[in-house]
Amino acid sequence: MAVNYADFRDIAIEDYDAVVVGSGFAGAVSARQLAEEGGLRVLVIEKRAHIAGNMYDEYDEAGVLVHRYGPHIFHTNDQRAYDYLARFTEWSSYQHRVLADWYGTYMPVPFNKNSMEIAFGDEKAARLIEKLVDTFGDERKVTINELRAQEDPELQEVADFVYQNVFLYYTQKQWGLTPEEVDPSVTARVPVFISRDNRYFQDAFQGMPIDGYTRLFENLLGHEKITVCLGTEAESVFDLVFAGREEDAPLEAIHIKGASFEGPIVYTGPLDELFLGRFGRLPYRSLDFVYETFDETYHLPCGTVNYTVTEDYTRITEFKYLTGQELPGQTTIMKEYSRAYTGAKGEIPYYAIINDDNDALYARYRRLTDALPNFHPLGRLAEYRYFNMDKVVADALAASEKILTETADA
Ligand code: FAD
Ligand code: UDP
Repeated sequence: MAVNYADFRDIAIEDYDAVVVGSGFAGAVSARQLAEEGGLRVLVIEKRAHIAGNMYDEYDEAGVLVHRYGPHIFHTNDQRAYDYLARFTEWSSYQHRVLADWYGTYMPVPFNKNSMEIAFGDEKAARLIEKLVDTFGDERKVTINELRAQEDPELQEVADFVYQNVFLYYTQKQWGLTPEEVDPSVTARVPVFISRDNRYFQDAFQGMPIDGYTRLFENLLGHEKITVCLGTEAESVFDLVFAGREEDAPLEAIHIKGASFEGPIVYTGPLDELFLGRFGRLPYRSLDFVYETFDETYHLPCGTVNYTVTEDYTRITEFKYLTGQELPGQTTIMKEYSRAYTGAKGEIPYYAIINDDNDALYARYRRLTDALPNFHPLGRLAEYRYFNMDKVVADALAASEKILTETADA
């Protein structure tokens, strides 16, 4: 069924058993589960003018299906998350491929045996591959940090090459930091792969929703017990009640439309913004996207090209490869420019910057919510983590199950 949209001003809050803030995967999957499994009447509030969070896609003026908040490819080893979403979409079998533009020559990323031949020539690459296989095993993934820790001079040479030509400049552009300065889990997402497999991801399942993500979200949120209010920001409709006047006094209740809301509240926005940044802002990286349409069927050789040694954007994505859309003579590409998030109106916090200081600041915000048992922070923003979609879906399934058990016990 179609999504029930309403204007927040027309809502009678006593008609709802649960409130969900945000309509990305964390919010939409929670809302669906609370409604379907628990029979709860769920109110979703979303500050943007549309559902689907960062997965939102739409047709541009040229008729090309584009992603508005960064290229999203679904990949997972989690059978439960995959099976769950398969109820709301059919999947294509798209396998994402990324090439690094290395001074005009393309080489596969993750850096692999094929990249090695492009970088070092066949003969030398054969020797280096043998050494890599002897050291780590064949078909193995090694992080750039593990490779750089090797003492063998030939492995050092490979490590230096990959560090200088794949990781250094791209990471500086993306994070404003060197690879040594970012959390090791960040660069570990893209290993060196001792393989001829040119795919970006090797998960058991990989693909794209056949009618796009927005349609998937319409199917998720289209339920008789779910109402969605767009253009509605939690900060402006929640009255937060604290246990005292001091800065660290815990949250005691959330009032909505003049009354304490006692049902579950799933919150998937940034936690610091809910508390109006009282301890200082959590740092994020934001992105600017620049689209170009060409009178060509395809513009690039594959779905994404990473600019690892040149340009001031990090990567270009050509959506038609991802979506499989057939549209002769027209294509749209998107360049990504990364910069610091300032919190200005309309700016989007895309990437949490994981380090000890930021984790501690996040924990301080999180402690404010610990005493309020019906408040559930969930997802990439509210948990200040670098989660992929499948993890967020799995966590939302687990969280809603827990909420429903608690609600039944109460
Ligand atoms: P979001 O999708 O951000 O949803 C949060 C929602 O809450 C948004 O709609 C927001 O408007 C709303 N909101 C926030 N604050 C408030 C508020 N105060 N009041 C009301 N509403 C609010 N993952 C993959 O698995 N594969 C990929 O290829 C991939 N590519 C990515 C590319 C980029 C550029 C980025 C940034 C991320 C990518 N991800 C990818 C990660 C993916 O985007 C996240 O895992 C996913 O968006 C998490 O869902 P979420 O619901 O937690 O957050
Ligand atoms: N990275 C890099 N060069 C590349 C690809 C990735 O340096 O060609 C590093 C960079 O620090 C990046 C991180 O690896 O932020 C994770 O890359 P991923 O493609 O997973 O980033 P996302 O798609 O989440 O933006």
